[in-house]
Amino acid sequence: HLSTRLLAVAEHVPLGARLADIGSDHAYLPAYLGINNRVSYAVAGEVVEGPYLNALHEIQKEGLAQKVAVRLADGLAAITQEDEIDTITICGMGGPLICHILNEGKDKLARKPRLILQPNIGERQVREWLKEHSYQIITEEIIEEDKHIYEIIVAEWKEKTTELTDDDYLFGPFLRKEKSPIFVKKWQKEREKLLHVLNEIKKARQVPLEQIKMLEIKIKKIGDVLNG
Ligand code: SAM
Repeated sequence: HLSTRLLAVAEHVPLGARLADIGSDHAYLPAYLGINNRVSYAVAGEVVEGPYLNALHEIQKEGLAQKVAVRLADGLAAITQEDEIDTITICGMGGPLICHILNEGKDKLARKPRLILQPNIGERQVREWLKEHSYQIITEEIIEEDKHIYEIIVAEWKEKTTELTDDDYLFGPFLRKEKSPIFVKKWQKEREKLLHVLNEIKKARQVPLEQIKMLEIKIKKIGDVLNG
């Protein structure tokens, strides 16, 4: 019963990986990968007791206790050097929380694991974090499930990463070039939302000109990407 979203994430986990899934909730992702022999080892990390117990239950139910360790811990504190983690998934959270988890656990990234991130919001901040930490985005995906649109960002550590433009950070270097129907839908909706906000703001008094300018620039940017 893996969701379309987590299935898409699973596709980016290399065969035989040693995976850490942080904020695993029911541990559906590591369970699926364990059942299908796609990972050689996995850690499911959870900071909240309820989800941690859900994860424990799921892993025991599937008879995966030898392969998937379930740990109650904050962020990357769930993993140790001995785990030899080479792939980290952090999914279903906001971009700021994903960046916070990565920042707090920097020492756990010494082996330069592949990062597969699925922020619900704040994708731009995630891309900025990756760039700042010498992670190169190697592919991206945008999918729709139950009327929600999700982005998946896959990155690998590189000695020297390629430069990103402002459009790359905002829209995604791969997504903006691919311009899939879901991408177009996402940004059409966002543009409409911003146009509405702009309208409301203009009606109000004493709105800083700066704020209006910024909105107008973003709306134009979206228009350019959609029409370009
Ligand atoms: N990753 C799953 C998915 O994509 O379906 C679950 C997403 S769920 C919305 C987010 C989970 O992250 C929650 O279970 C929450 O307890 C957990 N979480 C939030 N902050 C965390 C942290 N600092 N360390 C570990 N888990 C965290």
